[in-house]
Amino acid sequence: MEFVPHVIDGVETASADGQRFATVDPWTREPWAEVALGGEQEVERAVSAARRAFDQGPWPRMGRAERGRLLHKLADLIEEHGEQLALVDTTDMGKPIADTRGKDVPRSAANFRFFADHARLTPDEALPSDTGHHIYTRHEPAGVVAAIAPWNFPLMMASWKIAPALAWGNTVVLKPAEQSPASASHLARLALEAGIPPGVLNVVHGYGGSSVGQALTERPDIDRITFTGESATGRLISRAAADHLTPVSLELGGKGANLVFADADLDGAVNWSLQAIFANAGQVCLAGSRIYVQRPVYDEFLDRFSKAAQALRVGDPKDPATQVGPLASAEHHAKVCSYLDLAEQGGGRLLTGGRGEGWFVRPTVLVEVAPSSPLVREEIFGPVAVITPFDTEQEAVAQANDTPFGLNAIVFTEDLHRAHRVSAGLRVGTVWVNCFFVRDLRAPFGGVGDSGVGREGGSYSREFFTEPKAVVLRIDHSTP
Ligand code: NAD
Repeated sequence: MEFVPHVIDGVETASADGQRFATVDPWTREPWAEVALGGEQEVERAVSAARRAFDQGPWPRMGRAERGRLLHKLADLIEEHGEQLALVDTTDMGKPIADTRGKDVPRSAANFRFFADHARLTPDEALPSDTGHHIYTRHEPAGVVAAIAPWNFPLMMASWKIAPALAWGNTVVLKPAEQSPASASHLARLALEAGIPPGVLNVVHGYGGSSVGQALTERPDIDRITFTGESATGRLISRAAADHLTPVSLELGGKGANLVFADADLDGAVNWSLQAIFANAGQVCLAGSRIYVQRPVYDEFLDRFSKAAQALRVGDPKDPATQVGPLASAEHHAKVCSYLDLAEQGGGRLLTGGRGEGWFVRPTVLVEVAPSSPLVREEIFGPVAVITPFDTEQEAVAQANDTPFGLNAIVFTEDLHRAHRVSAGLRVGTVWVNCFFVRDLRAPFGGVGDSGVGREGGSYSREFFTEPKAVVLRIDHSTP
């Protein structure tokens, strides 16, 4: 079995006490690799290495162009090793290989390229002054960043956190999710090969609780925490970080609404809605899990959407034709199935889908679900769409906003005025109109309410990963 080590101070290493845990392939449901199980010692070693690399090493002192060159080299290496990285994530979490090859790997490389260029090209400000002073800003690296990642996009989420942190001159300790840890160590190995100095990117494996995840968030020598995961975990991290006033960026859960108006291009609405809920077997924070359809097209949408859901290819994630793989773990499968049980117990009508073999849940469509049901209010994080009719635009916006989450929404309409009006009325971080998951890395990304705190992307990432400093220089001695 493959061994997945920590990467600390440029060295691939086992845990001091030799402890390991198995990571399981959701397709075979058998362990496929052994992973170093970190504890307090590994956290201490990794944070100290990152601290030394920040306080004494070349990385924060290097010009942005030189850092950018190394990050581009890392992106090249990700592309060169793309096939291997795609296979690792597919084996580790069951995501179809077509997605890891076609989306996760290219987007991971793109994250490094974008933030390398963004940091190099973004000027500091010079603030004109009529008082005889020259004022300018310096965006200085914040320090040591703890990056805590979820299991649903292992390589992609790691790179989304690491790329801006490194581009702005910080050093990083990454804790990948215990369910899908393997690609993080490969990434750290490639970073060293690219010439990024030891200690700049460290990876510590282990569980979220006190030994590794929580331990990282409680340290006074961490300068930023960037976290993606569940809202409940976000609350714990926020509390832990408060003791040292450590700034936190939280990208949390979602319960996305798709609003399909009667004037929409129905082909587009069906296709995008299908992707929004069934890609990655619904294990996506942005999943469009609540679909609201205006009454005149409700029956037609339901019919077309259900047939298209049935036609999706469910199966072996390593088969390039597979569109929906198994869920990522036994625990997660049990959680999603508990929601299906709710529907069976009279909480809704199942049009298609339900439990599959092993850790599969087939693309599922539920109707006639009460707005107060947990199926509508809670993040299921599986391939389960709840479809509900509406009459008026006002009602649609009210239903979309009737949730503690606020990550994203999708609007399908051919009416330009309505598109703007509804977008303005939705309480979310991103609205897509007649499309889904178009990501421009300059745009702010994040959520409101239970979906998170803060934004990342472009200049928003600069705000989080740097300390802006004002320098005020007296240039005219005759001026007081
Ligand atoms: P999770 O909160 O269970 O775990 C995320 C990470 O936090 C893991 O690495 C885990 O080990 C660690 N962790 C757990 N408890 C911790 C603690 N007390 N202190 C520090 N670290 C701790 O989330 P998950 O199940 O891995 O991921 C799924 C969730 O992530 C979903 O809710 C999904 O919506 C969300 N998500 C959000 C976004 C976004 O951008 N908003 C993107 C992807 C996933």
